[in-house]
Amino acid sequence: MTRRRITSVDPPAVTGTARRPKPDDPVQYLRGVGPSRAALLARLGIETVRDLLWHLPRRHEDRRNPTPLAALREGMEQAAMARIERVQLVRTRRGMPLVRAGVVDATGVAYAVWFNQPYLAQTLTRGQQVSLYGRVERAGRALQFVAPEVEVLDDSEEPWHTGRLVPIYPTTEGLPQRSLRVLIRDALDLGAAAVPEILPEEVRSRHGLPALREALWAVHFPDQEADQVAARRRLAFEELLVLRLGMLQQRRALDATPRGAPYGPFGERVRRFLSSLPFDLTRAQRRVIAEITRDMQRPVPTNRLLQGDVGSGKTVVAAAALVACVEGDFQGALMAPTEILAEQHLLTLQRLLAPQGIPVHLLVGSADPAARAAALEALRSGAPVVVVGTHALLQERVVFNRLGLVIVDEQHRFGVMQRARLREKGSGPDVLVMTATPIPRTLTLTVYGDLDVSVLDEMPPGREPVATHVRPSSARARVYTYVHEQVSAGRQAFVVCPLIEESDVLQARSAVELARELAAGPLAGIRLEVVHGRLPASQRAAIMDAFRAGQIDVLVATTVIEVGVDVPNASLMVIENADRYGLAQLHQLRGRIGRGTVRSQCILIADPATDEGRGRLEIMAATTDGFRIAQEDLALRGPGEVLGVRQHGVAGLRVANLVTDLPLLEEANQAAETLLSRDPGLRDPALAALGDQVRRYLAHRASLASVG
Ligand code: ADP
Ligand code: MG
Repeated sequence: MTRRRITSVDPPAVTGTARRPKPDDPVQYLRGVGPSRAALLARLGIETVRDLLWHLPRRHEDRRNPTPLAALREGMEQAAMARIERVQLVRTRRGMPLVRAGVVDATGVAYAVWFNQPYLAQTLTRGQQVSLYGRVERAGRALQFVAPEVEVLDDSEEPWHTGRLVPIYPTTEGLPQRSLRVLIRDALDLGAAAVPEILPEEVRSRHGLPALREALWAVHFPDQEADQVAARRRLAFEELLVLRLGMLQQRRALDATPRGAPYGPFGERVRRFLSSLPFDLTRAQRRVIAEITRDMQRPVPTNRLLQGDVGSGKTVVAAAALVACVEGDFQGALMAPTEILAEQHLLTLQRLLAPQGIPVHLLVGSADPAARAAALEALRSGAPVVVVGTHALLQERVVFNRLGLVIVDEQHRFGVMQRARLREKGSGPDVLVMTATPIPRTLTLTVYGDLDVSVLDEMPPGREPVATHVRPSSARARVYTYVHEQVSAGRQAFVVCPLIEESDVLQARSAVELARELAAGPLAGIRLEVVHGRLPASQRAAIMDAFRAGQIDVLVATTVIEVGVDVPNASLMVIENADRYGLAQLHQLRGRIGRGTVRSQCILIADPATDEGRGRLEIMAATTDGFRIAQEDLALRGPGEVLGVRQHGVAGLRVANLVTDLPLLEEANQAAETLLSRDPGLRDPALAALGDQVRRYLAHRASLASVG
């Protein structure tokens, strides 16, 4: 494909190096890019020529069909082709240079004006045929284009900014669309040919994908809409194929690494533990426990993701796996994202495991020294014990002598690297990560692609779904009158204070103030306490214990209670300024109630200012299905927000869209499996470039992961 460059009306370019840039050269190799341009591009994440080629348009504007000048309409963006009759450079009353051109075609006359671009008075001359695109406004009796895109049409040049499907890019202040477009066109012209084609012909023809160079041109400057669609599909496919190949290879490598030492026989104690539980396990819990313990008997380490909505009962599954681990004469660790949750897990596990004769230790940042020393000593000795903790478990001085099983609770709160660091504390331990964020298949295949997945798709019996109501702040007084009545009748309630993202000090203060206000007013006479992240651990633990024991009626809290907290008797929750919270967070918070057999209620106080805000609250009121909420959240906020930017970065996707490209991901996944089943090392010469790309991807992924 030949494309000519240089459009005469673009500002004169700084002359750069003559050598053709390589894909990984810095953008400064392109003409017109000096240090300040480079800095602007860096803001868009563009550092190399390759980055520029992969900076895809947000959309294309259809500037193909010119409107005859006589048919121009005021107030619309329109395209026209006309001949220049006259060009004037004048000054506005404020002294700004203004270029004004009169243009004609067979049907009539119009004008075009540009502010602050005096050089146009030189480049545009009478008699030139031009293509215009822009907003048309009335000027006296005539119509004029205001600051339109303009291009001189001469036979030797193809228009880039007008008269075609024109790419519109995500850009940044100081870098106009037109400049970015010219840069990308130059990069295509000079650099695209040097980007290696990594998809073998066979794969391209099987999946109907255009060649790389063709795709790069068409994704930016398509002749028709369909070309752009095919091009984007090709680029997304390539990305997803590399990602799946990388993950499948990594998984194969893990499966080829045997466990340090196998577990001793286990099973008897697990059975005893399960029959000691005060409730019957759900079918889903039974199935998942079987999956996990079966995995543990294999000679290679387990890597499993346990996914189950809030309240589905993941903790006893974890406990069963820990019993198996200890029975097999190894040590087990459970890592939780907050101290409150770790402390609660300690209580739960002690209650469940003590009767089985299994010691459970706690390791958190604020643990008292004696308890910490005892925990560290037990781990170093190699005694088969269980330890529960926070990130504190990752510290260097925490040394496990016989780590067999690592469980990470609420995995979405941790980075990929933290999981890896805990794993490294043993020699090939089993890893089980648990999350209440229901993860759509796109994300399991991309972000959690090296894990097997188990799903708890059933709630313990007797649970009534939480009824959720949205109330404006003008109804606050009535809401708290209701809380007062309900609490007086024996229920327990959470009140969650507004979210203040920047600072946990402010957040704590807001909780304290809210508690004071409620205690002095609508909830006077109610046993009320406040809990937040700035409280000393012992005090916080005492308050949580008292709430659990029913000695406190209302707990005013910050998001410290967001994950894991389990107080089945609490059946009422009020969330202040609920529109400040993300959907996933509201779902987690609400998951603190509805754990007993009483019908629970959640009241969201909010005055959403936008339709989107109202929509989000409506979703919360309409469903308690975490999967639906996660899908909506993904669509509303995108995977970076939902997963945490770091985890999303690890997927490293520029083109593929995790919300809409599921079918393509499945297709790429199949292609990856087919390729690897024939050639596990991708050694065939036809696959060499692809194999290189996969290695680069894995290195990149590892470097991103280690940032955390
Ligand atoms: P999550 O999956 O959110 O971590 P938990 O493990 O905290 O859920 O369990 C929620 C509550 O359900 C706990 O009080 C737990 O004791 C209880 N529970 C778990 N499994 C069952 C079951 N099979 N039958 C009844 N209650 C159960
Ligand atoms: Mg939990």
